[in-house]
Amino acid sequence: MTMKLTFHGAAGEVTGSCHLLEAAGKRILLDCGLFQGRREEARKKNTNFPAGIEKVDAVILSHAHIDHAGRLPLLIHKGYRGPIYCTPATRDLSAYMLADAGHIQESDAAFLVRRGQADAKPLYTMADAAKVVEQMISVPYDRPFDLFPGIRFGFSDAGHILGSAAIALDLDQPGGARRVVFSGDIGRAGLPIIRDPDPPEGPRADALIIESTYAGRVHESPGDAQGMLAGHVTRVAERGGKIFIPAFALGRTQEVVYELHQLARDKRIPDIPIFVDSPLAVNATDVFRLHPECFDQGEQLVGEVPELFQFRMVKYVRSVEESKALNTRRGPCIIIAASGMAESGRILHHLLNGLGDHRNMCLLVGFTASYTLGDRLRQGATSVRILGQEVAVRAEVQMVAGYSAHGDRNDLSAWTKGLGPAAKKGFVVHGEAGLVAMAGILKELGVGDVTVPTLGQSVEF
Ligand SMILES: [Zn+2]
Ligand SMILES: [Zn+2]
Repeated sequence: MTMKLTFHGAAGEVTGSCHLLEAAGKRILLDCGLFQGRREEARKKNTNFPAGIEKVDAVILSHAHIDHAGRLPLLIHKGYRGPIYCTPATRDLSAYMLADAGHIQESDAAFLVRRGQADAKPLYTMADAAKVVEQMISVPYDRPFDLFPGIRFGFSDAGHILGSAAIALDLDQPGGARRVVFSGDIGRAGLPIIRDPDPPEGPRADALIIESTYAGRVHESPGDAQGMLAGHVTRVAERGGKIFIPAFALGRTQEVVYELHQLARDKRIPDIPIFVDSPLAVNATDVFRLHPECFDQGEQLVGEVPELFQFRMVKYVRSVEESKALNTRRGPCIIIAASGMAESGRILHHLLNGLGDHRNMCLLVGFTASYTLGDRLRQGATSVRILGQEVAVRAEVQMVAGYSAHGDRNDLSAWTKGLGPAAKKGFVVHGEAGLVAMAGILKELGVGDVTVPTLGQSVEF
């Protein structure tokens, strides 16, 4: 019996993860992510959903990142009424993430209308996003689930973000048992809070679909990152400056708070206030609190402290007034605010106010894409434009790269080995520079037939 895979996203690029598996008369969608990047190009790809895709029989979601879940509201808008399987933490995170994505879509469209594009419409609305969550069914890690007669799947911890999973599908077919493994996004050993990646070990897979974001790189370790963070915080506090940390509201913010908590307990940083200035981060932190089943019990802080994200130094800021009040605040402090690439969000006000002061620091802890404000600062710009104003950059700019949520070449190779016997066919997705490197890793590990699919390509096997 043949099976068929069609790659409807993250094919030759990172975003838009969406793969269709057709087998035993069923159509199963793995992820339904949003294309991101240049506005017009992304918009075109996002609206161009494959015809009839809303008639799939089931959706299985690897994790809550928008490049994996962000087209689900559109799928439902088009009429999909079936189940969306995901882990319990992914379901809860998606409730916030997708509502936020819907809000961004609505405000983008409103902006275009104001600019004179009268027919601009949001790709979907917050109301569409809310419906996604109603169709989500939680399946815990490592509990095989009978999807249809003769088709089972299981989630295993991908160690990438809270609730992230790799998916292994087992199909009993007339010609014998067959297995398809989808990696989702693979994390790293030693990341704060969450567990290390745990590959779905099993019989030889017929097909392995694997991400490749950083397959061509080796990261600095999370342990080194903690030491660098402590050094920067101590130095800036001593000179009375503020530290601005642009951070994605979900994941990176909680990791940084957790790391600062650990450092404060170990007395490796001075006692200065830490402000988490992002309403979405406040909500996402609540979701973390609800999912201790995802925490790495081997970590000291997880084992010893009941409240990981609440300690004397940290304060969560919801209201705009409180956020603005931070601008006039004197004395050293840490301000963590979205967005991670400093392209939007409350971090802009803080940078606008604080970049001119040589005592301050902008500390970059995540990936910054080309042409973003975060990237210009990283490149050493002496002057930047923020909210229409030109600002001289006198503050120090530093980066700590060790918190990447994506595994490097060693992590990806270890994960693939952990699957057991080499897969018959490998499909390398979710990468740019890493695609060729990952194809090389698969071949080294004995996967005979490796493909880097293009968008829309179908393969039967
Ligand atoms: Zn991800
Ligand atoms: Zn991704």
